[in-house]
This record gives sequence, structure tokens and C-alpha cells, in this order.
Amino acid sequence: MTITQAPTTSGTSSTGPDLGRATHLSCRECGAVVPLGPHYACLECFGPLEVTYDFGTITRERIESGPRSIWRYRDLLPVPEHVATIPNTDPGLTPLVRADNLARELGLKSLWVKNDAANPTHSFKDRVVAVALAAARELGFKVLACPSTGNLANAVAAAAARAGIRSYVFIPSDLEQQKITTSAVYGTTLVAVQGNYDDVNRLASELAGEHDDWAFVNVNVRPYYAEGSKTLAYETSEQLGWRVPPQVVIPIASGSQLTKVDKAFHELLRLGLVDGDGPAIFGAQAAGCSPVAAAYKDGHEVVRPVRPDTIAKSLAIGNPADGPYVLDVVRRTGGAVEDVTDDEVVEGIRLLARTEGIFAETAGGVTVAVLAKLLREGLLDPGAETVVFNTGEGLKTLDAVAPVVGPTGTIAPSTEAFHDLVQN
Ligand SMILES: *Cc1c(COP(=O)(O)O)cnc(C)c1O
Ligand SMILES: [Zn+2]
Repeated sequence: MTITQAPTTSGTSSTGPDLGRATHLSCRECGAVVPLGPHYACLECFGPLEVTYDFGTITRERIESGPRSIWRYRDLLPVPEHVATIPNTDPGLTPLVRADNLARELGLKSLWVKNDAANPTHSFKDRVVAVALAAARELGFKVLACPSTGNLANAVAAAAARAGIRSYVFIPSDLEQQKITTSAVYGTTLVAVQGNYDDVNRLASELAGEHDDWAFVNVNVRPYYAEGSKTLAYETSEQLGWRVPPQVVIPIASGSQLTKVDKAFHELLRLGLVDGDGPAIFGAQAAGCSPVAAAYKDGHEVVRPVRPDTIAKSLAIGNPADGPYVLDVVRRTGGAVEDVTDDEVVEGIRLLARTEGIFAETAGGVTVAVLAKLLREGLLDPGAETVVFNTGEGLKTLDAVAPVVGPTGTIAPSTEAFHDLVQN
């Protein structure tokens, strides 16, 4: 279906939602057009809906003079112009760290780590939740909710607290204790469900059907939520001096982040904010939950669901909603999807910590270990500048490394004992 005319439910209308330069939603499968609203699935074909914009002109200067948060990119997001004045967690502008030590160890010419552990609740999820919250308010929702593998629970609970609204957070009952505590502390209604993430997700979809003023950020406002991931690409480009890195390595849970980062780089190129080509995009999974890597390696276009069994719980989605779109992006851009064992994940965490002083959660361990594996396999060009995303904080997944790191030794409080230990 060809779209010649966007519907007029735009932000300029006095009755419709003010979602900035977003004009409508469109179906990723059949192209059907849907007005901006609390919609997430196409009525024609049940395909996922995506936010579409009329950007007009956007300059580097306007972005650079904006807030020191993701809201500097508000013109590229489905949020009102005055979004920075509304209570929210205001994530973003996390450090892009030059990783020369890790690059040297891996034999790479130039490497950067985009460190999203520096966000307000210490993961990339603050980006998507902040955008979902801003859009949900415009769409008239009263409550924030989510099914979560952990980090989303933190981000939703904190954002709802700042916004002064109620929240309901649903998690698998076997989640890391750290992530339970770091969600519950914000005073959310935290519901531990006996089942895996895919069971929790199904329950959330059923509840979303019952409560039409609850915004389940990654279910019924998913098109808006997903746009938050684009800010990772905007920031990376701006921090590189308005350049697109030739290679990017991204962890995959549902696959949403990876597909939106690709979308964002192409928006920057189309708007003339950066020159050149889009990057080759590489996806990272844990072998204990690697349905997208398996489909990639088998040359399939569909992703066969799996039952997750990995320490990388924040990536443990056995039936990833955006899996097929990830395969499209990776194949179109000349990337790949690779997976690593839990032992390699732990090694990845230790390697990043030892070389760059960055303590990543298990998802970051997956990404660093996949980077190393792609280099060993010759799938990643060691001579091309590369960016890896560390999407979460190591303090939230201490159990992954606690068994393998500890004191070098325990000694009596004497110089002799010390010298015996370190032999110097
Ligand atoms: C949620 C999450 C991701 C990626 O999520 P997608 O569903 O693929 O967008 C990556 N890293 C961490 C730490 C996460 O919590
Ligand atoms: Zn459709």
C-alpha cells in the first residue's frame, strides 16, 4: 500500500495528542496508516506499528543547544516540544568511552564503549521508558506498567515515582535479587510471577486488555517506547563529532533496540546531520537464549522460539518480537548475529572491567564476548572503527561474577605477610 497523504491527527491539533513532529503510525508489514493513538498492532494484518514523522528541518545547532539529556533529540521523538519541563527521569548523554586498552587486547584499531550503565537506573531501559512515559501522558494513560526481565522494572518504577503516578511491574519470580530490590525500593506494586519472561509478557498483554488507562510501556505503547532506543544512535553520532561508526555491536533481547538504532542512523543520514553510509550492525545473544543467532546462522527468515536458560537474564526473551526485523537489518547492513556461552559472558565482564574500568552487567558481558568472537571468526573488520553498547550496570548482576572474583589473598596485618603474598 502506498501512502500519499498522512492523517491529520498531528500534534498541531488542539484535541489530538501533542507528539511533536510524529504524524501517524504505520504498519511495518503492510504499510497501513493508523492515526497517532494508543495502538500497537495493525488492524489489517496484526503487524507491529511504527511511529512516522514529518521532520522538516533539524539542525546540529538546535540539537547541540538543547538539554543535556535525550530531550535534545525531542524533534526526532514522539514527544511534545516542552517535554524537558515535564517530570521524568531525563536519561541519556551517557559517556562514549574510548577503549584503547580493550582494543589493543583484541587487536582492534579503534574501539568505543557507549556506557549506558550511567543512566538514572543504570541501564539503557531509562531511554525507552522516558519516551513511553512522555507519550503515554499525551495519550491519556493514568498508570505505568510493564512485564520485565529486570532493568525495565527499575526504569518504570523510578519514572512513575518521579511522575507521581501509580505503577505495576511484573517480573519472573526467579529474577536476580539485586533487580528485585532495585525495583521495589521505588514503591511500585511489584508482582513476581511463577514463570519465565514469556509467561509474564502474556499475562501483561491480557491485563492491558482489561485496563484501558494502563500504559504497559513495552506492550500497548510499544511503538512510542521503541523510539527511545534511537537516542543511542543519535548520541553516538553526536559524540563522535557527527559521524556514523562503520561497525556497531548491540545486545538483543526482543531486538527492538537493534532495529531502532539502525532506523536512527538512517534518519540522521537522510536529514543531512551526518555524512556517509549506515553502519554494519552486529547482534549479540547468550547461547542459552539465542533464537535470533540460530536463525541467522541457519539462513532462516523466521525465528523459532526457545526456552531461555542463561545468566544473561536481561536478554532472556525466548520469543523476540523484533527477531525477524533484526535478521533483515543485520543482513542488509553486512553485519552478523553471534552468541556466546555463559562462561564467555563472565569472561567478557571481567575483560571489560580489567581493561577499561567499566563493570558491566551480564548483557554487557554478552556484547563484549561477542565482539571478541566476531573478531576471532573474521566477521568483524579489525581495521574499522567499532562501537559496542554496554547497556547495563554490573552491580545489578553480582551473582554472575561473585563466584570467580575475590581477594587476592587474606593476610595478617604485617608488611611481612604482605610481601609473602605479592612477592615484591
Ligand atoms: C532490555 C535490554 C536490552 C535490549 O532490549 P531489546 O528488547 O532488544 O530492545 C539490552 N541490554 C539490557 C541490559 C537490557 O535490559
Ligand atoms: Zn498491517
